[in-house]
Amino acid sequence: MIPYKHEPLTDFTKEENRKAYEQGFEIVKEYLGQDVPLIINGERIMTEDKMVSFNPSDREEIIGNVSKCSRELAEKAMDVADETFKTWKKVKPEVRADILLRAAAIVRRRKFEFAALLSKEAGKPWPEADADVAEGIDFLEYYARQMVAMKDGVPLNQRPGESNRFGYIPLGVGIVISPWNFAFAIMAGTAVAAAVTGNTVLLKPASSTAVVAYKFVELMEEAGLPAGVINFVPGSSSEIGDYLVDHPRTRFVSFTGSRKVGTRIFERAAKVQEGQIWLKRVIAEMGGKDTIVVDSDADLELAAQSIVKSAFGFSGQKCSACSRAVIVEDVYDQVLERVAELSKDLTVGDPVEDKFMGPVIDKNSFDKIMEYIEIGKEEGRLVLGGTGDDSKGYFVNPTIIADLDPKSRIMQEEIFGPVVGFTKAKDFDEAIEIANNTDYGLTGAVISNNRFHIEQAREDFHVGNLYINRGCTAAVVGYQPFGGFNMSGTDSKAGGPDYLQLHMQAKSVSEVF
Ligand code: NAD
Repeated sequence: MIPYKHEPLTDFTKEENRKAYEQGFEIVKEYLGQDVPLIINGERIMTEDKMVSFNPSDREEIIGNVSKCSRELAEKAMDVADETFKTWKKVKPEVRADILLRAAAIVRRRKFEFAALLSKEAGKPWPEADADVAEGIDFLEYYARQMVAMKDGVPLNQRPGESNRFGYIPLGVGIVISPWNFAFAIMAGTAVAAAVTGNTVLLKPASSTAVVAYKFVELMEEAGLPAGVINFVPGSSSEIGDYLVDHPRTRFVSFTGSRKVGTRIFERAAKVQEGQIWLKRVIAEMGGKDTIVVDSDADLELAAQSIVKSAFGFSGQKCSACSRAVIVEDVYDQVLERVAELSKDLTVGDPVEDKFMGPVIDKNSFDKIMEYIEIGKEEGRLVLGGTGDDSKGYFVNPTIIADLDPKSRIMQEEIFGPVVGFTKAKDFDEAIEIANNTDYGLTGAVISNNRFHIEQAREDFHVGNLYINRGCTAAVVGYQPFGGFNMSGTDSKAGGPDYLQLHMQAKSVSEVF
């Protein structure tokens, strides 16, 4: 197998790539607005009760009418996954891995179709959608190799007359619950990490981006994944969310989403249900309140560019987005001014037209962000933006709020929109203190030319993903394994060397001759 290398991003200055993206839209147009079934044991099941996935740039445009899984169908899917586990766990790891590699090849061939679908269903601008699909390919390629690398277990100490072996075996049925913001990469990555390790999966994608998840499950079938290994069960959280998490046959839950839902799942999964013979495992990747710290001795242009890209890329709807800029006072005004200057020229609009920023995902999100902007106006000084337009879709302009108290709500709560708060620190020590003063610990960045400050941040900036002299988004699978501390999750690292083990248990066998 050739060594892993991440998928390159598309260069959209090239005309042929722009054409290919346009063609992606043409392909997607063919199936927009269709009814989408559940997939249980390979069987397509269309339910009466549907949820509508629409285009957040234009809510009149329906992406798909997605069948909603009921409790009865969730139970059926659980039986299927339980039964399929008996055979899937015996399939050789190399064979499971090959299915992922084949799937990666198919996604690569349909890259622009998937990216265009993300532009339509999740409102992703072209480069963001392209990166989402590339990351999905990376997860497939990386986890396939990781599975093969760990298939023979780990060598143990041996004594004469004794053979000691140590290997990883799968867990059982996993519930994979994914968010809408990386509707392809995280959905695909979490589902295939569970499956390649020999588990079977009930995949419950975010309702707002269920069509792209359906297309991916179909693709996995095409790549050779046997029926019943990944079952597609979109549905309402109140009807099947708790039900699946609570189910006594659920062995583990792999969740990515908000802190509120993640902590709820963590609590519920801890309760041992009647008939349950294990303690459930929970892998939870949750929210963030991520900071870029700018030192007085720093490349200020790099600092401003990094803040703009990390705060406003995909309208700030990334768990890793920069929502706090903490600037040492000597350079505060200069950095703030430059960030405002760069941000006022950013384009906002329908991603079909290749704008820098698209819409936010839905009305709830739009209303929540606009409420935070009002709070921000009271807590600090509005420097840029503060406006939105929800007449057709859900657009919010890049917003900068300055002179905030580090403990203000804008500096503490996850907004998940294009809003960045600025705070002044008297020196670098105080800047790191402020950076660490939230409940979260996902990503962070430091822009500095001071070697001692860089080392100080390396030790004391308490985040799962720390970046030095770059922005705080855009982790790459296998290069920057991703996941956070504190209320950002269970300290797992997606796309990292120990991620697959979280879906397995170690068995130790000792034989005496
Ligand atoms: P969300 O928590 O609202 O929903 C996530 C998923 O959970 C969805 O599929 C939803 O249908 C499901 N869900 C909701 N209630 C449930 C319940 N009671 N039982 C089972 N499932 C339930 O999050 P979201 O709005 O889709 O995503 C945004 C959030 O995700 C942000 O907080 C962001 O920071 C976080 N996020 C974190 C990471 C990470 O790697 N740490 C990555 C992406 C997004």
